[in-house]
This record gives sequence, structure tokens and C-alpha cells, in this order.
Amino acid sequence: MSSALTAQTDKPMLVATDIHRHFEGMRAVDGVSLEVSPGKITGLIGPNGAGKSTFMAVLAGTLPATSGTIVFEGDDITHLPAYQRARRRLVRTFQLPSEFAQLTVLENLLVAAPNNRGDSLFGALMGKRYWVDDEHRLIDEARGLLKRFGMSAKESDYAGTMSGGQKRLIEIMRALMLHPRLLLLDEPMSGVHPKIVEEIQFYLQDLRAGGLTILMVEHELHMVERLCDTVVVMAQGKVIGSGTMASLRKQPEIVDAYLVG
Ligand code: ADP
Ligand code: MG
Repeated sequence: MSSALTAQTDKPMLVATDIHRHFEGMRAVDGVSLEVSPGKITGLIGPNGAGKSTFMAVLAGTLPATSGTIVFEGDDITHLPAYQRARRRLVRTFQLPSEFAQLTVLENLLVAAPNNRGDSLFGALMGKRYWVDDEHRLIDEARGLLKRFGMSAKESDYAGTMSGGQKRLIEIMRALMLHPRLLLLDEPMSGVHPKIVEEIQFYLQDLRAGGLTILMVEHELHMVERLCDTVVVMAQGKVIGSGTMASLRKQPEIVDAYLVG
């Protein structure tokens, strides 16, 4: 690889600097700085209440930061709303809203797609034919994802009848309909049957192999060790360490704070 290319790929995709998020004086996130390297899976771990989910919500734009800056692919996005971050392809998963239980699995993917032509003049002038083409393109894309995630046979089933693990996969596929460059996952395997955990692990590795960058909160440390290239440890709203899981296990203060057991 040429040095120019190396320099480019080494540049972090996302840089969060001194992020604070307070809730009425409670410092849920208390000065967190973190970088996400492109093409990697970065893990975020720490005890319950450490501020991981709050931090992820600040990155996604679903919660405003109290202070701090977020730069994504060279642009300051600190003050952009979530939908504009998603348009820049910084995307988080959401638990399936309960009303979507009554849509089929395929429909759940289709309604997640950005409706970026909905208000175009061109679309309005071209009329029905145009919408139909657009819809076919989205259906093909959604079916491609269902195939990749082993859920083609479930296409016409109601999402509400899916298992916990299958719902997790639907959440990930819905996020993928937005063509993320950075995908934020908050405990994508929680409450999932161990067999499906293995499957989700495989899919995440496959997504990374395809060039997707991932930042994920996960509490199961063996999974973190297998999946994550770098791991950041939070406790009480602060970052208390980072590095490979192997290097973290050698740091007594981190083991004491979190890795015991
Ligand atoms: P984690 O995901 O690491 O378990 P959270 O980010 O969910 O931690 O929570 C961090 C702290 O912030 C906790 O003490 C939690 O009670 C508090 N917290 C989270 N969300 C809110 C909120 N909307 N209002 C008040 N406190 C909150
Ligand atoms: Mg959490």
C-alpha cells in the first residue's frame, strides 16, 4: 500500500472531543474524547450507568451534547440533527417501534429507506411510473439484505412475530437501508439466543469485511475480544482506558474498575 493511501486510511472517521452530557447536573457523560478508525470495529464497554448509551445518542444526534465537538469525515456535525447525520451516513439502530410489528419484515426495511425523492419536482412530473421504478429498486435492495442475513423466508411474516434475535437483525438491516459509512450499535446482541449471537457476530464481521466502520457497545467481553479491533472503556462518564482487549486486561486499574471476572 502506498504511503499516501496509508495516511488516508489512518485518518479517523469520527473524532469526538471532550463530550459532556449532563442531566440536571448529573454528569452522565463527563468529558469523553474518542476516535473511530475507518474499516474497524471499535468497542465501547463499561459498567451499567457508565454513560455509554448516552454517549452513543449524542454521537447519533438523538441527544444534544451539553458541550464538546463531533467531527465526522472532516466536518463538524456537533449541531446537526440526527436525520442530517444519517444523510451523511452516520447511522444508529433503533429498537423496532411497536407499531411496525404489524408490518411485514420486508415492509419494515422499505419504510426505513430514505424518502429522498418524495418531494422532488422531477418525481412529481414523472408521476406513477417513476415511483414504481423507485419502489422496485428499494424492494430489490431490501431482498438482497434479507438474503444476506438469512431471512428471505420471513419476508412476508409480520415483524411482531419474529424472535428477539430476528428483530435485532431487522434493526440492523433497517439501518443498512440508509447506506451507513459508520454504524452505531448499542448492545446488538442483548437478549438474544446464543445461537443467534454467533450469527450476529458473523454478520458484523462480514459487514466490516465489506468496508463498513462500526462503533458498538457490548457487555459480553468474549464477544468484544473476538469482534473489536480497539476497545474504549468508560466508567462514571469518563474514558478510563483504551486499546486492544488483551492490552486492557493487563492494566490493573481497568481490571479493578470493570474487567473483574
Ligand atoms: P450505560 O449505557 O453505560 O449503562 P447510560 O448512558 O444509559 O449508561 O446512563 C448513564 C447515566 O445517565 C445513568 O446514571 C442514567 O441513569 C443517567 N441517564 C441516562 N439517561 C437519562 C435521562 N434521560 N435523564 C436523566 N438521567 C439519565
Ligand atoms: Mg446502555
